Amino acid sequence: MRLGVAVDAPQYAALGDVLHYLSEQALPPGSLLRVPLGRRDTLGLVWEQVSEEVPADPGVTLRPVGEVLACLPPLGEPWLRLVEFTARYYQRAIGEVALSVLPPELRKLDDTALAKRLARLRRQWGLPSPEGEAQPKKRRRAVAAAQEALPPVPPPEPERPPLMPDQATVLEAIAAQFAAETPTCQLLHGVTGSGKTEVYLRAAEAALAAGKQALVLVPEINLTPQLEARFAERFPGRRLVSLHSGLTPAQRLLNWLGAHLGHADLVLGTRLAVFCPLPRLGLIVVDEEHDPSYKQQDGARYSARDLAVYRGRLEKVPVLLGSATPSLESWQQARTGRYQLLAMPHRVGQGELPKVRVVDMAQQPKPPQGREPPPLCPPVLAAVQERVSRGEQSLLFLNRRGFAPVLHCAACGWKSGCPHCSAWRVFHKGDRTLRCHHCGFTERVPTACPDCGNLDIEPMGRGTERLEEQMVALLEGVQRPDGSPARVARIDADTTRLKGSLEQQLAAVHAGEVDVLVGTQMITKGHDFRNVTLVVAVNPDSALYAADFRAPERLFSSLLQAAGRAGRDAEAAARSEMWIQTWTPGHALFAALRQHDYAAFAASQLEEREMAGLPPFSHLALLRAEARDPAVAEAFLRAAREMARAWLAEHGEPPVMLYAPVPPQIAKVAGLERRQMLLEAGHRGALQRLLADWVPGLHALRAAHRGLARWAIDVDPLSI
Ligand code: ADP
Ligand code: ZN
Ligand code: ZN
Repeated sequence: MRLGVAVDAPQYAALGDVLHYLSEQALPPGSLLRVPLGRRDTLGLVWEQVSEEVPADPGVTLRPVGEVLACLPPLGEPWLRLVEFTARYYQRAIGEVALSVLPPELRKLDDTALAKRLARLRRQWGLPSPEGEAQPKKRRRAVAAAQEALPPVPPPEPERPPLMPDQATVLEAIAAQFAAETPTCQLLHGVTGSGKTEVYLRAAEAALAAGKQALVLVPEINLTPQLEARFAERFPGRRLVSLHSGLTPAQRLLNWLGAHLGHADLVLGTRLAVFCPLPRLGLIVVDEEHDPSYKQQDGARYSARDLAVYRGRLEKVPVLLGSATPSLESWQQARTGRYQLLAMPHRVGQGELPKVRVVDMAQQPKPPQGREPPPLCPPVLAAVQERVSRGEQSLLFLNRRGFAPVLHCAACGWKSGCPHCSAWRVFHKGDRTLRCHHCGFTERVPTACPDCGNLDIEPMGRGTERLEEQMVALLEGVQRPDGSPARVARIDADTTRLKGSLEQQLAAVHAGEVDVLVGTQMITKGHDFRNVTLVVAVNPDSALYAADFRAPERLFSSLLQAAGRAGRDAEAAARSEMWIQTWTPGHALFAALRQHDYAAFAASQLEEREMAGLPPFSHLALLRAEARDPAVAEAFLRAAREMARAWLAEHGEPPVMLYAPVPPQIAKVAGLERRQMLLEAGHRGALQRLLADWVPGLHALRAAHRGLARWAIDVDPLSI
């Protein structure tokens, strides 16, 4: 019989979704197997059995399938529908999506090797082997031993704090969804420190008690160990696995197998975990649902948050989206009643939210002629010093890593541009390099100006590395309560490159070994710091003037998250503050922030978006093209636009706006010129119908544009 098999082969993407093979066995959809592809042999997924009535392509000799990975149960119907939806909605081939969301290790294994991995999983977890599987004596003994090693009595009941009134109310509403035939998606809007994690734990507990599996998504790998520890502590004796790209390939496969076979009760993971097959799925939680990391930025550019909602509907399981600053998309869904809004407006233990103080930098003393202003203005520095002398911690938040964003020669005007990108190279003092954060191009810092030989090349502006250095100098002589000197530390992508280093550095902060912590966005997310009473936004203004329409939303959310790191200890809450250094203190965003008023901010942003016809009031797609010669990228986009125009003229659809091709904010990266074209529609359906007919044609169009390096379509792009 003929089988339609999904394979990951971009060269066939234009041919349709699946390739046909011959098989003697009737394999159900979702089975994994090896198939020949050109001269290779590759992993494939049975997508469909081709009906005998479909005539075979004349002149095409079908090849037989290779080995079937028979020890693995086929992926289930809901999983196949999720992959299909993702491929259609984000305009990718089914094979690409299906294969890219499976553990990469699967591609390398034959059935025998896979069976060994399965046996290993069973041994590790003390599971009986399936009947009929021949087992060597030694292994049988090992399994028996592992089973005996399992605690004979159930582990002691973990301590659960009594619920706060807000939590109790919210959990009742969640319980109602567990009982519902078709559950409604719920948006949990809880201020920082309101105890959202406890709600997730209790919701998961309810799912597990009903014999179901729970899937908990977090935006970043960094947040998984912390959360994993809390779940593990709460559910001793339950099987908990994590899924993220930081695992070794072998571990990721084992964890995935545990979930797919239904042995794992809880799966905790980053965006890729939304595709984890779970035969007993009973709950999906998306923590920090507003976080941009839920959007995949290459290949199939899916939003794991949106797919989680889709999956919940597909499998009729409750979906809980949580955030202190929900995305405006989700907030709008709640306002229109499509999602149910659950609110937790109070901090646990009556802890107050930190007082937000906005400092007008224009009112601060000017530095002497030719000197750079200090990183912190006098009242802010005084506030930090006060914390140090009281033995409390301060967080200084600056969203720019490196020492200085650019080096500059005052004599001739030279600046440290990247030869391959339209961007500056950042000066990293630690290893004395100039590094491009876009293409990675790195060189040693020149000792003299490359253009004029001037020896005094100077850093301009400030990154976290420099802020750390300056803080050490500024705090000299400031004593902690025991008379010892202040300790400054830094956490950013540069200090946490090594595996485990972030955990180590965070542990040092929790242990009170740091007085002043300098860092990027990384330090503002999710951490439950107990002794922080001051948070400073050192230079948030640049984000206000970014061209991106989502910039204010992001800034508001990151500042509110950052503020949320302070005063998490009820006793210290009363003297907790966030200081914001800005040149535009009158901006409405700061007024809302001062009141911790997310709803007011969201309302004003939504009003602006509605007037401008931006999401969530419209639906966007972005066609990007890259080429060495910008004319090539532009010609491709113009031709694509003509095709779309012709389609619209023919179909007389509700309108889709086709904007002219333009360069993005950073127009050149790694030697390639970038251009993009925006599509905007009032109706998602109209945009989707156009894309479905148009994108396949772009594969053919590409062939006519030699010299085009890449093109991609981004549906619901995060930034335009
Ligand atoms: P959020 O995720 O909303 O910012 P967390 O879940 O981190 O808040 O909770 C803040 C703190 O309050 C944590 O230390 C948590 O252990 C504690 N907490 C949460 N719920 C309760 C409760 N019902 N009783 C006591 N402490 C709680
Ligand atoms: Zn010079
Ligand atoms: Zn570069």
